[in-house]
Amino acid sequence: MYDFEIERAVGEVERRRAKKVFVQAPDGLKQFLADFVSRLSKVCEVYVSINPCYGGCDLEDDKAAMIGADMVIHIGHEKFIEGAEKVQTIYLPAPHMVDVKDLASLAASELKKRGFTKVGVLANLQHVVHVGEFVRALEAAGIVPVVDRQTAGLVLGCRTGGAKRIEGEVDAFLFIGGGEFHPLGVAMDVEKEVFIADPYRNEVRGTVEMVKKTLSQRWWAIMEAAKSKRFGVIVVTKPGQFSIKSAEKIAAGIRAAGREAYQLVGDEVSPERFASFPFIEAFIVTGCPRIATDAYQDPNRPVLNEAEAWKMLEIIKPGNR
Ligand code: SF4
Repeated sequence: MYDFEIERAVGEVERRRAKKVFVQAPDGLKQFLADFVSRLSKVCEVYVSINPCYGGCDLEDDKAAMIGADMVIHIGHEKFIEGAEKVQTIYLPAPHMVDVKDLASLAASELKKRGFTKVGVLANLQHVVHVGEFVRALEAAGIVPVVDRQTAGLVLGCRTGGAKRIEGEVDAFLFIGGGEFHPLGVAMDVEKEVFIADPYRNEVRGTVEMVKKTLSQRWWAIMEAAKSKRFGVIVVTKPGQFSIKSAEKIAAGIRAAGREAYQLVGDEVSPERFASFPFIEAFIVTGCPRIATDAYQDPNRPVLNEAEAWKMLEIIKPGNR
């Protein structure tokens, strides 16, 4: 179960004398909000966003302001956007409160069997609370655990500094959390092998095959995009993903290479949105870098993120083709 820190949230609402509160949570956590919202409704009027919520980058303070809310409670992420929000906001990380002792021992023994002696410990926001348990298990198995001091091991889908800063000190990484989104982000950014300790499945697994498959997909996308004549360059309006300057620079690079660039703008980027533009041969998304790498890839139309777009532009720039 997840800890929504309901009494802290109620205390913050009362201390700030908020009358109308706007609640945001990722889709995976919305199903657990019933008690939280019922309790909160005893002290204020509550509106829950039905929109997907992918990260702290996806803050809906503008929508909160639109409905006259005087406070946002953003669940499942930490503050991502620098500066003050349009409506006062608190962030509740919602840690996954599960006993990971056996999983930590299993992970330590798996890594020992493979001969690793120094292991970097990483986690997503819901599981960073468990880093200490894994550190103890690794030590008990005779492995030196390394945790980045700046982040306490926390990694996001687009922020892997907690791994990169310690890469030189370790011979593998252990990521605590479910799914593949975060560990894949790390594994694509580091040279060392990344293992997943998954508290939902109670298993430890590697990422080598997943990385190989993703790398080959990404190179395919870059090379296919390089053959395209008409590009859609998408500016994402989510506040933490908005980067019109990047989009304009990329569009200029495409035009300098003698190709056409259509400038597109939207809040939600998905294959359904792409379907409305059959004349575009390749899309470049300048928002979250993971939209391109994790979204469905049309076999005929590649989707690149900003970093990949710059690689592709190197290939097609005048003089290289
Ligand atoms: S990975 Fe994407 S959705 Fe997640 S915080 Fe980064 S920009 Fe936002």
